[in-house]
Parts: sequence; structure tokens; C-alpha cells
Amino acid sequence: EAEWECKSGEHRQVSLSAELIELDEEPHVVAFVQDITERKENAARIEFLAHHDPLTRLPNRVLFRDRFDLARAWVERTGGKLALMYLDLDHFKNINDTLGHPVGDLLLQEVAQRLSATLRETDTISRQGGDEFLIALTDVQDVEAVGRIAAKVIEALARPIHIEGHELAATLSMGVALWPDDGGDFDTLLQRADTAMYRAKDAGRNTYVFYTGEMNTQALENLKIRSALHWALDQQEFVLHYQPQIDLASGAVIGTEALLRWQRSDGELVPPGRFIPAAEDSGQIVPIGEWVLREACAQAVRWQEAGLPELTMAVNLSAVQFKRGDLVASVTQALEESGLEPGRLELELTESLLIADAEHNLETVRRLKALGLCLSIDDFGTGYSSLAYLRKLPAAELKIDRAFVLDLEESEDARSIAQSIVNMANALNLRVVAEGVETTGQRDILVAMGCNELQGFLFSLPMPAYELERLAHAARRVWNYRS
Ligand code: C2E
Ligand code: MG
Ligand code: MG
Repeated sequence: EAEWECKSGEHRQVSLSAELIELDEEPHVVAFVQDITERKENAARIEFLAHHDPLTRLPNRVLFRDRFDLARAWVERTGGKLALMYLDLDHFKNINDTLGHPVGDLLLQEVAQRLSATLRETDTISRQGGDEFLIALTDVQDVEAVGRIAAKVIEALARPIHIEGHELAATLSMGVALWPDDGGDFDTLLQRADTAMYRAKDAGRNTYVFYTGEMNTQALENLKIRSALHWALDQQEFVLHYQPQIDLASGAVIGTEALLRWQRSDGELVPPGRFIPAAEDSGQIVPIGEWVLREACAQAVRWQEAGLPELTMAVNLSAVQFKRGDLVASVTQALEESGLEPGRLELELTESLLIADAEHNLETVRRLKALGLCLSIDDFGTGYSSLAYLRKLPAAELKIDRAFVLDLEESEDARSIAQSIVNMANALNLRVVAEGVETTGQRDILVAMGCNELQGFLFSLPMPAYELERLAHAARRVWNYRS
């Protein structure tokens, strides 16, 4: 095979074969020349496609990995370090959804362009698919240098990108893992850079985060929780504890809040803060939440039958239950199965739930309300719900978050916040419940402010159903906080 020049000056790829033959006892050479330019080009194109991303023309995962391994073999001899950066564009889905995929594609091309312009020839950039990119920095002398390059990459995207008349801001979040410090092979490093990238997202995006070993312990812990949660429902490992709620005007216990606990087989009682986030991530909160609803309603009826005073039963809901699963159907079923009067069930929603996907959730909330139950807004003051939105919501009560109750006695600010929540609730005709009341001092301030209900360790810890029942019986139905 050879490259020949045509008379026109054009270069062509040719394949040449020749044979020696005898004609009339004279030796002759017969030569065949075939133009294989196109075949060669096709082969090169196929070769390119097998190792590159067609949209950005950057190396793909296969080639990236090859280059990384080569660089590693080299650095292993020279004693340097390698850095693997995992990049993910922030809110890229929004751009795709609102401006369409063609604009999204152009944006990705521009990002690829800017990344290439920022890095050295020897560094490899790759598109992993979607809005994810990888960068391998070869021959890194010190960690500070990696930090500087990471900052430069983020900076490179800071200038707005103009596409078809739109001015787009494409920030990115980056996780960085180092070879050999954070892992000896490509797959481990990739996974660790990915973990660090999620931290960058959590930290508010548009930033980079270096991997630390502690992240791994936490990631492993989450993974373990996730898989253990998988069996927890079947194994009946969940229990509900109940915390009494006291009416400040009469001093009587008027309700309880059901709080979920996970009783592991080794006896450990896991608080919700440690497993609910994992259950929300995996969607397992939907069946778990259904169980909570059924169990809490059934317990309320059992207490009623045991002759306890009339109590409302408050149940916490997660935003994920609104998004997935049919909440209205689960609530209806829990009420029907138990025979609990809807008016005795109270659902606690958080502000964040009301912000995300407001219209859809508001509709669900209205349908829940129509079943005849009571709605309360939990952890009030920690989210950002607008007053206009609060007015639209058919809630009957607000729960002041524990954070504001905590330093009522010491902090003037905490007192002003609590007082304004109470005033606003009064103006909107909502009852106000204070959570996490631990001292008589806090209680007295809240009473003076005009708070309606109190819940907290001052009166009682959350406790198992049988204990609450015993407490109620011991009080011989004169279940009054003041007596
Ligand atoms: P929350 O609904 O705001 O519940 C109040 C939390 O404050 C409970 O923590 C309770 O034990 C605690 N607490 C009550 N009084 C005091 C006090 O005086 N001092 C202090 N320091 N703490 C007090 P817990 O049981 O760990 O629950 C934490 C959160 O987990 C709950 O906050 C709720 O958001 C969530 N949660 C609990 N059960 C469920 C459930 O069944 N489903 C869902 N989706 N979330 C739940
Ligand atoms: Mg609650
Ligand atoms: Mg709360």
C-alpha cells in the first residue's frame, strides 16, 4: 500500500500488486493498482467513532481509560501523581427541557471546546455521556497545582455562552481523586471522583471538591443502610414511637405525633434522620410511608377502644411520597382499613415539599384535605414558603421549628422570629404548635406569645405505644399537664 500523487497534485491511497509471468519465453510483470482511498477513509472513520464521542469529538470512555492506564504506567516509573476529575454540568437538564436538545448539544460542544482550550495537550478530556466529562491530568507534581487547574476549569465556564440568541450560564460541579493516594486502579478512582462530585453538588454547585477517605465511609454506610432497608419492611423492623402534644389552654394531652424508628436485628434503634434520606433517595420511603400511615391509624383506633381520651394522630410525610406513589389512595386506604375518623388524622408536611413542584403538590394537598383530615406545616421557619403560598394552602396549623425554640431564653432574635410566626399564624387563623420545648422557661415564653400547643421533652419523650397507654391510664383519664 502506498500514497501516490496524481497529475492534478491530489494524493490517493493505492494498493499495488504485481506478478511475474512468462510471455513468449520473455519475463513480464503484470501490475494491478487499486485506488483504496475511500476504503481507508471509512476505516479511519470507524476507528474514530469507536474511540470518540461523535458530538464533541472528544475521546470516549474506552480511549480515556487506555490513555489513563498508559499515563499511569509512565508515572509509576517517574514517581509523580495523576488526577482524575469528574465533571457534571449544573442544571443541564433545565436547558435541554426548556430550549430543546439541539441547543443542549451546542452547549455541550462549546463546553468541550472551552475545556480543551484550558488544558494542556497531554491532559485527556473525555465525554462520559450526558452532561458528564472526565479529565485526566498527567504528571502532577503537587496537589495545589491540581486545585489551581480545577479552579481554572470552573473559571473557563464562567463567561456566559451564547447560543442561538440565548445567553446561557453553564456552571459545573467537579470531584477530584488522585492516583495513587485515593485508589490504585481506574475504576476505584472513577467511583471516588464521582462521590466527591456529589459533594460539590451538595456544597451548592459551581465548585470542586477533593475526595477524602471519610466520604467513602459515609458512602459505604449509606449503601449498607440502603440494602438493609430493603428487607426492613418484610422483617417488620419498623416501629412507631409517639410523642404527646399538649394544649396550652387546657393543659390536656390532645394528640400524639407518630415518629418512625428502625429496630435493627442487633437491637439498635435507628433514628429517622439516619435512614429517611436513604429511603427517599431509593424510593423506599413510599412503601415505608404507607406502612406508617396504616400503623398510626390502627394505633389511634386501638387507643380509642382502650378508652383513652380523644387524641389526634399526626403522621409525617416526605416530599417523595407526593412525587411517587398515590398518596391520596394510601391515606384513604389507611383510614378505611382502620376505621379512624378522618378528622382525627393530621398530616405533617414540610415547607420544602410545597416549594418543589408547587402546583402538582398543592392539588394533592387539596384532595387530601377533601378527605376531611387536618394538615399541619412542620419545621416552619426553616424553608422559604411565601406568604401568598401559605394562604393558598388549606393547612390548619403551623409547627415552629425546634431551632427557634432552642434559644428563646437567650436570644432576642429567636424571640422575635417566634413572635412573628405566632402573629402571622393568628392572622391566617392557624393554630401554632411549638416543637422541642425542653424547659419551663421556653414554655412560659411561648404561652405568653400566644402559642396554642406544645410538644417536647419537657412533657415527654417520644415513647412506644404501650408506654403512652400506661401513662394515660395512670393519669386516670384526667390527663392534664398541669395536674
Ligand atoms: P419532626 O417531625 O420535626 O419531629 C420532631 C423531632 O424532634 C423528633 O425527632 C423528636 O424526637 C424530636 N424532639 C421532640 N421533642 C424534642 C425536644 O424537646 N428536644 C429535642 N432535642 N428533640 C425533640 P425524630 O423522631 O428523630 O424525627 C426526626 C424527623 O424525622 C422528624 O422531624 C420527621 O421530619 C422525620 N420523621 C419521623 N418519622 C417520620 C415518618 O414516619 N415519615 C417521614 N417521612 N418522616 C419522619
Ligand atoms: Mg413532624
Ligand atoms: Mg418538626
